[in-house]
Amino acid sequence: MLGWIDIHTHIGRLLRDREPLTVDDLLRWMDAQGIERAVIMAVESPEEVDFYVTTEQVLATCAAHPDRLIPFCAVDPRHRYPGEFEPLPILREYADRGCRGVGEVLAGVPVDDPLMQAIYAACAELGLPITLHMDDYILRDGIGLPGLERMLREFPDTVFIGHAQHFWAEISAEVDEAYLRRRYPTEPVVPGGAVDRLLSEYPNLYGDLSAGSGYHALSRDPTFGREFLIRHQDKLLFGTDYLTPGQPTPIIDLLREMDLPQAVLRKIGCENAIQLLGLA
Ligand SMILES: [Zn+2]
Repeated sequence: MLGWIDIHTHIGRLLRDREPLTVDDLLRWMDAQGIERAVIMAVESPEEVDFYVTTEQVLATCAAHPDRLIPFCAVDPRHRYPGEFEPLPILREYADRGCRGVGEVLAGVPVDDPLMQAIYAACAELGLPITLHMDDYILRDGIGLPGLERMLREFPDTVFIGHAQHFWAEISAEVDEAYLRRRYPTEPVVPGGAVDRLLSEYPNLYGDLSAGSGYHALSRDPTFGREFLIRHQDKLLFGTDYLTPGQPTPIIDLLREMDLPQAVLRKIGCENAIQLLGLA
């Protein structure tokens, strides 16, 4: 696992009932896992959490460990009065200060909301990939992800990184509404899922394998999961969503145990992230 890049971690206090992760906790855990670098997500929307961890906090934390930590930035699409939201200058400032991507987006709006579209356009202009948390409320979409597909088509220069319950439920062609948020599917994957098709058809879509959602997408049907990893080896990114000390991260063992070709594991473990984020 040496040299791996975790595409999705957190620091700070997000939830009142979970112990916050300090930067020292994060670095110690990374050392123990053999993870060289980690992306830290900014959280500036209220839906999923009790507290914010702002872009400013993430930038300050990463500045102290530039060889290990990679900052992402956040901007809630509901800032300002209607018609006055301008994400481009805000995101340009964050990019100039070292942010390598936007995320994670946790706003309770449709994935194709016009306010989100302003952010997608800004991301294209600045060359920033954007991590979308999709469930039954946050960046909501219909079954089959028609809104996301429209965005992939209308913003071909924006790199979208899919994450969370709804996105990964769509690895299967059979999607129960219940899986969009509070339950993880355990039955075998029905081939022909929207995520499989969209990853094949749209060069600007990537998948973030972090959290229970990414883990269950692969482990619910390990044979399908292994083939999926090989099929989309250039479009998938290792991640954990580590956010509290001692949190289990079973995706690490799962990837190790899948007996993947070394080249595939290297791409998913770090090379895709290096290329996508323009890392040295
Ligand atoms: Zn997260």
